[in-house]
Amino acid sequence: MIRFEQVSKVYSGGHQALQKVDFHLRKGEMAFLTGHSGAGKSTLLKLISVMERPSAGRIFFHGQDVSRIGRRDIPYIRRQIGIIFQDHRLLMDRSVFDNVALPLVIDGYSQQDIQKRVSAALDKVGLHDKAACLPLMLSGGEQQRVGIARAIVNKPALLLADEPTGNLDPDLARDIMQLFRMFNDVGVSVLIATHDLGLVARSGQRTLRLHEGRLVSDGEVA
Ligand code: ADP
Ligand code: ADP
Repeated sequence: MIRFEQVSKVYSGGHQALQKVDFHLRKGEMAFLTGHSGAGKSTLLKLISVMERPSAGRIFFHGQDVSRIGRRDIPYIRRQIGIIFQDHRLLMDRSVFDNVALPLVIDGYSQQDIQKRVSAALDKVGLHDKAACLPLMLSGGEQQRVGIARAIVNKPALLLADEPTGNLDPDLARDIMQLFRMFNDVGVSVLIATHDLGLVARSGQRTLRLHEGRLVSDGEVA
């Protein structure tokens, strides 16, 4: 699904955010990405979704080298990736339905398909009765679920999450993790950046650990 080969990233100011990172995430695999703030987690996710470009090395997505693809091919890659942010980035003046529908509207789906897919996505995250609500009427955990519904509404092969439980208390964090596992169970590959080591340890999942831009371990956290 994703392969990094000796990937480095130096930002324009000269800061080296990643150094010679190698890893492979298989199709259908779920893994955590951990490390202190500034370790390079967000940068790694942005390289996968081609929001940033590597300074050196190669990145393969579905066998395609995306490190050097042209601008015009980026939307094709993005469409296969669902992204979830800590601050969920919902449009606060639009309904839950409209927020979840957004990627489909951008892709030009028919009204009928949009209705069907948004309903299905809201069902999966347990929010089908909140479609008409504005995000402000929802709790933090529910808002994050809307963000997840928006990320999975066009059935991406890969889910990337950047601190998805960062603003949630432990019970809600567990519920959100349960959702990721549910998508993983039906074959979606999942990569979750988090510095919540408790959450990671309890999961028994594969964990990639970054330290100052280097991948320092790759395995299960005991
Ligand atoms: P993490 O997600 O683990 O907190 P980041 O990938 O956000 O780490 O950041 C890694 C390092 O790269 C940090 O030192 C950060 O300040 C720096 N960095 C991130 N984005 C940029 C940018 N756009 N320009 C310059 N430096 C950046
Ligand atoms: P997050 O924790 O979600 O990665 P941050 O607050 O670390 O958010 O960063 C917010 C944005 O600013 C990100 O797009 C990141 O790449 C960018 N950024 C982080 N550090 C720097 C930096 N030193 N210079 C410029 N941009 C940065």
